[in-house]
Amino acid sequence: MTATFSFDLKATDGAARTGVISTPRGNIRTPAFMPVGTAATVKAMMPESVAATGADILLGNTYHLMLRPGAERIERLGGLHKFMNWERPILTDSGGFQVMSLADLRKLTEKGVTFKSHIDGSKHELTPERSMEIQRQLGSDIVMCFDECPALPSDRARIEDSMRLSMRWAARSREAFGDRPGHALFGIQQGGLEQDLRQESADALRGIGFDGYAVGGLAVGEGQEAMFAVLDYAPAQLPVDKPRYLMGVGKPDDIVGAVKRGIDMMDCVLPSRSGRTGQAFTRRGVVNIKNARHADDPRPLDEQCACPACSKYSRAYLHHVFRAGEMISGMLLTWHNLHYFQEIMSGMRAAIEEGAFEEWERGFHETRAKGDIDAL
Ligand SMILES: [Zn+2]
Repeated sequence: MTATFSFDLKATDGAARTGVISTPRGNIRTPAFMPVGTAATVKAMMPESVAATGADILLGNTYHLMLRPGAERIERLGGLHKFMNWERPILTDSGGFQVMSLADLRKLTEKGVTFKSHIDGSKHELTPERSMEIQRQLGSDIVMCFDECPALPSDRARIEDSMRLSMRWAARSREAFGDRPGHALFGIQQGGLEQDLRQESADALRGIGFDGYAVGGLAVGEGQEAMFAVLDYAPAQLPVDKPRYLMGVGKPDDIVGAVKRGIDMMDCVLPSRSGRTGQAFTRRGVVNIKNARHADDPRPLDEQCACPACSKYSRAYLHHVFRAGEMISGMLLTWHNLHYFQEIMSGMRAAIEEGAFEEWERGFHETRAKGDIDAL
């Protein structure tokens, strides 16, 4: 425990890195996967259970929380950690991305974005200053700059204008954030798939100075190959002594490929969302528990997994409760998926520390390529 925010790089293996982010609310081991707690809950999971999967930090969504129940209300009730019963670190996004993807009647100006709530149609404004205020009211440990992110593909002129607007907003975010010991502000690199724009963005962010840096504007429809092509150079454009966060990624093989290229933090709704639709991520690939082949199968989902879904229940049970629409279905599969994602992270951390990342990665891909165990 520490009173300040800091990042210590412990070991590197190729471009892959492992280290520890220290915050007053606890340490975050990197590379880190952050489960998403959109509406002040990781859906279908008790906070104790999320911690038991090995998560050191959660992500909260500014857009959702400002609309319901409202940032002022959460502040009055003692902040997001107390409100949702999660004492460990929380990272909040800026709201910018979700305004663009969810809200109605958006209007974008130099000042910020006005929009109508997708819940009740009420009118709101988000600016860099308002986003910093909301994230302070929530009590977020890692605050993200307010930015704008075009969907891909977009033409170069659109990417360039958007990136430069985001850099002006980054400077305003830094100014509005002020000096808050123990809390961190991360800048967000933009620039689409254009290497020179990514460099310009990285230089602008370095000039402002942040506690960490996100690679933004990826996982927005460009595909894995294009994303990895950007990650072959983007992390190295950012300061080596600060955490690097890839936003909104991803599937297990996306995560492994990102860490291999120098990313330290990631978040994604995939393990929790898929858990509620009957999809399990396992060492041997994706298993659809709704398939009839599981109906009489007494074996666990993954015999090597120590999570409750695998150690206490059969495939037949998981299949039955999914088909019957029982709540425990989403609970067990979400738990398993989060557990598996954290196991990938701890496996990579250990491998990087031992200088054996390449070997670990080969094993990861070989086991996945086998596919699910044969039906009975
Ligand atoms: Zn499991």
